[in-house]
Formats: sequence, structure tokens, C-alpha cells
Amino acid sequence: MTVWYEVRGTVAVLQLDNPPVNGLSHAVRLALASHLERALDDPLVRSLAITGTGKVFSGGADIREFNTPAMLAQPSLLQLIDAVESAPKPVVAAINGVCMGGGLELSLACHYRVATADASMALPEVKLGLIPGAGGTQRLPRAVGAQLALQMISRGEPIDAGTALAYGLIERIVSRDSFADVLGFCEEMAVRNQRPRLRDRVVTLTGDRDAFFAAARAEVAAAGRGLQAPLACASAVEAACRLPFDEGLAFERKLFIERMQAEESQALRHAFFAERAAARLPDVPESTPERPVRRVGVIGFGTMGGGIAMSFANAGLPVRVLEQKPEALERGLATCRSHWDSSAKKGRIGSTEVQARMALLAPTARYQDLADCDLVIEAVYEDLAVKQSVFKALDAVLPTGAILATNTSTLDVNRIAAATRRPQDVIGMHFFSPANVMRLLEVVRGDKTAKDVLATVMQLARRIRKVAVVSGVCDGFIGNRMLEQYVRQSLFLVDEGASPQQIDAALTKFGMAMGPFAMYDLAGMDIGYAIRQRRYQERPHVTYSRVADRVVELGRLGQKTGKGWYRYEPGDRRPRPDPEIDRLIEAYRREIGLAPRAIEDEEIVQRCILALVNEGARILEEGIALRAGDVDVVYLNGYGFPPAKGGPMFYAGRLLGWPRVIERMEGFARNEHADPRFWQPAAWIRAQAQEAGRA
Ligand code: NAD
Repeated sequence: MTVWYEVRGTVAVLQLDNPPVNGLSHAVRLALASHLERALDDPLVRSLAITGTGKVFSGGADIREFNTPAMLAQPSLLQLIDAVESAPKPVVAAINGVCMGGGLELSLACHYRVATADASMALPEVKLGLIPGAGGTQRLPRAVGAQLALQMISRGEPIDAGTALAYGLIERIVSRDSFADVLGFCEEMAVRNQRPRLRDRVVTLTGDRDAFFAAARAEVAAAGRGLQAPLACASAVEAACRLPFDEGLAFERKLFIERMQAEESQALRHAFFAERAAARLPDVPESTPERPVRRVGVIGFGTMGGGIAMSFANAGLPVRVLEQKPEALERGLATCRSHWDSSAKKGRIGSTEVQARMALLAPTARYQDLADCDLVIEAVYEDLAVKQSVFKALDAVLPTGAILATNTSTLDVNRIAAATRRPQDVIGMHFFSPANVMRLLEVVRGDKTAKDVLATVMQLARRIRKVAVVSGVCDGFIGNRMLEQYVRQSLFLVDEGASPQQIDAALTKFGMAMGPFAMYDLAGMDIGYAIRQRRYQERPHVTYSRVADRVVELGRLGQKTGKGWYRYEPGDRRPRPDPEIDRLIEAYRREIGLAPRAIEDEEIVQRCILALVNEGARILEEGIALRAGDVDVVYLNGYGFPPAKGGPMFYAGRLLGWPRVIERMEGFARNEHADPRFWQPAAWIRAQAQEAGRA
């Protein structure tokens, strides 16, 4: 069934039932339209209520129909909305929970709206690079005023029932337990016999309209990192203030179609689907039973351990934290408290939450205290012997079935697993710094990792609001292995004539959250230095620029020493150019006998980004990553790749085109200094280009 129909007294109840989110599929739209007609034809029916099953009114468009003819089949959502709004009997939206996108647009066409106290309402289209396309941008401002409407539409965040009531979006809050409230309201409205339509209202806006929208556009642009959709949202809401309803609706349609066809929306929709796909593993069926995780342990309360513990406490899970150094334990607890205090000050969490979350953290120095943990994540020093001894100790105390995870960035998860008698229970959980903020989690699957361990960790990631991507075991996993090639190219570019400032500017203009040199300074250059020294031994045939080593050898480690590729004023994280670095670079170029040349920004961007792409392709060939989309999810969520470009693989394949990618790589291979061997396009890329040629 897609929509239930029942007449209760004089009220026709139309209840959407299309799990999981009552999406407005073609079948649902057809059923709604036909039930609407039936109710209008029935002389005993005096009013109608539209509602949903469970705790969802409607999540909006049915994403299973995206890009299929069903999405556009008649009746379209716009036609349905017209029919509801012009119905000669009062129609009430009884919002019983989540009400988003097209679902909210449908409710805005109803003559009245009521909602349960736990309802939440949003127009999240902007997150897919779109604007609401079924009247939402024109009706919502008429319901709640321009300010709140613009905020909801341009950010895509939900409001709760209390806010909706205060702003007049709903008439009243109704009981979740009994439908009598809704029926009573419908009967009252039938007696009143009015059918107020939002289209007949004017938008309220206090203050000067032009000044309001100029300021709003500036704010939206600053928050949007070059995204166009939030600006289109502002234009559509402005149209609602300026134009008669039908003209505003036509304007919305025009913008909606423009956005739908834009690369930005294609990229964001790709990311949306890639994120969902990443959660599914071909050889781990969804029916795989999960192990219960009621309490977790974290070992090492340093930078990463602290952030990891906070992520779990934020999700309400109790955490035991084991540290070897009492002072590190104290410092870790103080860091968590100060982080939560500052969230409370900003109003992001309630003031009682700070205490509640602190109470979830139980510090200890003894392994026996971890005996009741269902999962333990180790975040101690990056040293195989240290990690193996931690895993031996865990093996001795943890109950059967507990999951043992490591946060290692570079070590072999299989060798860590081999230190235990239960390698099937060992897995990598590679968090990114700061771990309580960054969404990405690389889940590293060891040779022996059990399927139910993987299924459990993937589900747990969702619980702590992370985006999990599975990686096989290799040096650097997906993200850092690709990053190494990006870093190499950035340093070669310096050797050849670009300045760190030029490279950072070119890549931030491309949309990266941060330029590579500012990033090295932020992360600290000692780790990269140590890795390179190891590489010189391990991979003598691979060429590396040594220019970064020279910087480190001057004691310039980045922000933490006040100097790195840039210099920093005390208490100020803004990078400033430093003539000492210019001199160092010039001296290094002389030493290697390279005459600097002018390098175009375009070359900088393409070399750095296509380096990611070529390594990403090799990672796919080796089966370390399962899908190109997984690689994109890693870069979008862990490395500041511009959302509007959809991730490196999407950018290369869909925005540049694989044949052009090959051409560029072959061009770069002619540059002797920048490792011609690396620039041989991966076989995976050649296969994509061939396929594109056939299509
Ligand atoms: P850190 O030095 O800040 O913290 C390590 C903590 O572990 C210290 O407080 C130390 O006292 C404690 N510790 C060391 N040995 C211990 C033992 N045997 N038992 C109990 N506690 C012990 O280091 P970090 O940056 O948090 O890194 C931790 C791990 O996370 C490393 O494996 C690192 O590669 C990985 N990692 C780091 C980052 C990052 O950006 N810093 C990102 C991802 C992964």
C-alpha cells in the first residue's frame, strides 16, 4: 500500500505509507490524487487530513526514483500541490514527525498544518545543490516571514515544532498518541468553512528589503565555500517578496532547472549517493548480525584519543579511557571539558550536557577496568612494538566477542592483529584530526577481520555521526596514500618555480579548504619528514624533492614552532610569507640546478589534483578501495576537497573527462623533474576512457 484511505466521521484521512521515509514516489502521488478526488466527491466528507505512518510525514522526493522517468511522471508534485491547494474542502496536513523537502512543500499547499511535538521540518534541497522546486521558496516565506524562510532554505537545517508554532507555520501541536486531536481540528475547520491559501498572503519582512537581501547574500556566500545553490535560494526568497505568487513560482522553476543541470548539483548528488553506497559492502550482507556495543574503551588520551572519546560521549556512549601518564589523563579530561564548555557557551549543547558528557568518561590506568568494554580503540604512539604490546594486554582482559580497533595511520593492521589470539576481532578505525569534528572514518579491513566486526563498526560509525569508508591494508590507506602524491607534486612545483603562496592560492581558488603549504604548517612538518626519510630507504627508485627537509632542518616545524613554510605571529594562525623561505627555495633550486620558470595556476591545480586521481585509480586497481565513489567520499570528508567538484574521481571523470585526463598526464610525464614514471596513467583510467569512448 502507498496511501491508506479511511473516512473517520466527516474527515477523510489520507495516510502515506511508503517506507522508509514516505517518499513521494509516482505511486504515492497517483494514490494521493485519486484519494483526494474520492474525498471531494464523497458528500459525507467535510474535511481532509493528510498524514504519514510511523514517525515520518514525508521525507520528500523518493530518491529511488532520482534520474528515472517515474520522477517526472504525472501527476507531478506541482500538479498534486495545485489540486490540494484548490480543493473546495479544507485540507489539513497532520505532520507526525519528519517533514522534509517535497513533504513540507505538500504540507504548505494544505490550508492548515498541525504537528506532533517531536516533528521536524526542513527544506534540505540546498544540500544537493538545488532549491526547493515545488513552491517551497514562495510559500514558506509567506508562512513564516522572509528571515526564517531564507535561513531554512539556504542552510537546509530543520526547525522543531515549537519554532514552527511560534512562527505560524503550524496552527497547533497535537498529541502523538491519539489522532482525536487531529480529527477535532479538522471538524472545527470544516465548521469554519474557510480555505486559507498561503499563495494569497504577502511576505512579512521587517526593515529594508534590499539591505536585508544584500546582507543575506554576503552571509550565504561566505558560508557556502563557492557554492551557488545557497545564492539561488536567496534569489528565490527575494522573488517571493518582490513578485506576485505565480510569477515567483515561475522564477523558482527556472532557477530549479538551472540548478538541477549545474555541475555543482551533479557533484553534490554524486557525493550523497556515494556516501550511502560506501556504507554497503558487497560481501557483507545487510542481514549480518551486529555485535552489541554498549561501552567503549579508548587507549591513549592524547590528541586523537581525546577526540575519539568525545565522539562516543557525544553519542551518549560510556567510554573508559586508559592512559599510562596521569598528567596526560588530567590534560585529556580538561580538554574535553573545555571543548564542551565552549559548545555550551555557543548554545550548541545545553549547559547540563557538559556534566552529563563528562560523567560518561571514566579514566583508568588498569587494563582490568576495560573488561566490560564491547569495543576498544587504541590511539597510543605510532610504534608497532608499543601497539602490539597494547593489543596483547587487551587480548588478556577483553571478553570473547569484543572488538579490538587501532587508530594507526601507517602501520600494518595485520601485524597488529597477529599480536592477539583473535585476529578476526581486530580492525582499523582511522579517525581524522580533530576526531570529534572530522566526519571521515577509514575502516581498515585486515585479512582476517570478521564480517560481523565490519558490520558492527560500520553501524557504530553512523551512531557517532561519522562517514565510514572501508579500506584494505596498505601504507597510508586510501586518503594518506593519495595525499603523498599530492604532496610530492606540490614540492616539485616549488623546485620548478612556483612559490608556496602561489600554490596555496591556486588550490584554494580551485576550492580546497586549505592550500597544501598552510596544511603542512598546521599539521606539523616533523611527521612528513620522518615518513620521507623512511621512503628514501624503502623506495630508492622514487624521486622526491628535498626542499621540505631543508625547511624542517632549520627547526621550522609549522605553526607549533611559529614558523614553517610561513611565519606566524603569536596567537595568530594566519600564514605570512617569510623571506627566509624564499632564500631557502632559491638556494635549493641552485643546488639541484633547476632554473625557475613561471608556472600557470592551471598547471599547479591539474598536477596536484591529477596526482590524487592517478593514485586513487591504482588504489582501485588493487582493490584497496571498493569504488571510485569511496575515494571521493574520503577526499570530501577528510581532506577538504571542494564539495562542488564531487571528489577527485568525479572531477576527473565527469567534469574533465577521462580522455582529457590521460592527455594531461601524458603531458606531465614529459617533465623529467616531476617523476615521469608516476605520470603513466593507471590502467583503471585507460579502461574508463575506453568505456567513455564507447558510450
Ligand atoms: P599523542 O602523542 O597526542 O597521544 C598518544 C597518547 O598515548 C599519549 O597521551 C601517551 O601518553 C599515550 N600512550 C602512549 N603509549 C601508551 C601505552 N602503552 N598505554 C597507554 N597510553 C599510552 O598522539 P596522537 O596524535 O593522538 O596519535 C595517536 C595515534 O593516532 C597514532 O597511532 C597516530 O598515528 C594516530 N593518528 C594520528 C592523527 C593525528 O593527526 N594526530 C590522525 C590519525 C591517526
